[in-house]
Amino acid sequence: MTLSTADIRQKFFDYFKQHGHQSVASSSLVPADDPTLLFTNAGMNQFKDVFLGTEKRSYTRAVSSQRCVRAGGKHNDLENVGYTARHHTFFEMMGNFSFGDYFKKEAIEFAWNFLTKELGLAKDKLLVTVFHNDDEAFDIWENHIGVPKEKIIRIDTADNFWSMGDTGPCGPCSEIFYDHGEHIWGGPPGTPEEDGDRFIEIWNLVFMQYNKQEDGTMEPLPKPSIDTGMGLERISAIMQDVHSNYEIDLFERLIKATAEVVGTTDLENKSLRVIADHIRSCSFLICDGVMPGNEGRGYVLRRIIRRAVRHGYKLGAQDIFFYKLVAALTKEMGEAYPELADQQPVIEKVLRVEEEQFSKTLSRGMAMLNDVLKELDGDTVAGDVVFKLYDTYGFPADLTGDVAREHGYKIDEEGFEQAMQEQRQRAQKASNFGMNYNEQLRVEHATSFTGYTDVEGQANVLELIKD
Ligand code: ATP
Ligand code: MG
Ligand code: MG
Ligand code: MG
Repeated sequence: MTLSTADIRQKFFDYFKQHGHQSVASSSLVPADDPTLLFTNAGMNQFKDVFLGTEKRSYTRAVSSQRCVRAGGKHNDLENVGYTARHHTFFEMMGNFSFGDYFKKEAIEFAWNFLTKELGLAKDKLLVTVFHNDDEAFDIWENHIGVPKEKIIRIDTADNFWSMGDTGPCGPCSEIFYDHGEHIWGGPPGTPEEDGDRFIEIWNLVFMQYNKQEDGTMEPLPKPSIDTGMGLERISAIMQDVHSNYEIDLFERLIKATAEVVGTTDLENKSLRVIADHIRSCSFLICDGVMPGNEGRGYVLRRIIRRAVRHGYKLGAQDIFFYKLVAALTKEMGEAYPELADQQPVIEKVLRVEEEQFSKTLSRGMAMLNDVLKELDGDTVAGDVVFKLYDTYGFPADLTGDVAREHGYKIDEEGFEQAMQEQRQRAQKASNFGMNYNEQLRVEHATSFTGYTDVEGQANVLELIKD
């Protein structure tokens, strides 16, 4: 059965709605009232207080398709993009949730039936993991579902035990993997593709059953809950009989659009995958009110934009191009996320301004970096070089790292941090004498805008989009 990504999203909603789940819209990528979280990175984020019991809802079962970004903080897949077949900076996490309603047995049943009956996946291609001492889950998989025991793997690492924080709700997980077959091999040791792309994790089922106390004891929760996350793009790859997320319908079209705007015909080029990935995270971040800036969320966004622009430059783009992909993205995702379509002109404008700014220094910075790489002694680009690229040409350190890695080199991150520190001290000294230029510049560039309801932020956006 070949299903489009949009079909699968719809099927997921239909299935869980049939089973009494309330459909809940994706929350913003900027977590509400949670300064500990850089970006929304899982479906459960918006239900945190419901799980904690401090917020009540009118339903006890929910289903959602959550936009997620993993490009910083605890979950950071930025360095994986372009290297593995399964990671994006932005992706959609489908999830079903039980707030003290059903538990392990039903959660496992729902997931299994959705995959094997609704989507018709071959049972023998599926493997599952359980936390090493979760005999209950093992027993359900083996005796209730009928998965052969050699395909139920006990894992004793944190991968299979989830916790909300140092204390509070936590519990074992059970994950479902799909076997893509032997045709794909992993990369060299120490690289993100080391573990290969044969067995791909598609669905994580979290069984919240304990309340962890200060002293480490695990008290059973009176009403255990369920949180699950299924990667939509990973399921699409399976349903469309391809072995990489970057070959699914949506990415095929985005990559084609990217090739057109940068002017290349080499559709296999890795840089196209990176740009197609980055247009999604950048557009949705701006859509949710993040503006490129010099710190925090805004700086993560700026770094992703600059990486994308640099990849375009590498492919030979002759002109400002990145913003032109917003239209293609809106065509793909505007129906599922109407807010994206609404914000299209703003997103385009912000990306254009940002690219125009960076393109002024990009080629000179690249010329310097290429010279450095040509004459490099050893395998590490020195911290002061990384700093100069940052300070003079606006190259975020991770962008320099990305280029270095393409040549088999790395950057001296510690040395870069030290150079940054020294600059801060110089700026501090200068400001003590009333020469506060650096600080002033920083404030001007750092629009820490948190949402369209923020009046000051709105003014910034309007400032930026007026011609
Ligand atoms: P992986 O081990 O492959 O990095 P994960 O264990 O970090 O995945 P979870 O935190 O368990 O992922 O998230 C639930 C599901 O979301 C995963 O099973 C996967 O299907 C999907 N997912 C996670 N990270 C990404 C990503 N960067 N891009 C696309 N899908 C993802
Ligand atoms: Mg991960
Ligand atoms: Mg994992
Ligand atoms: Mg996982």
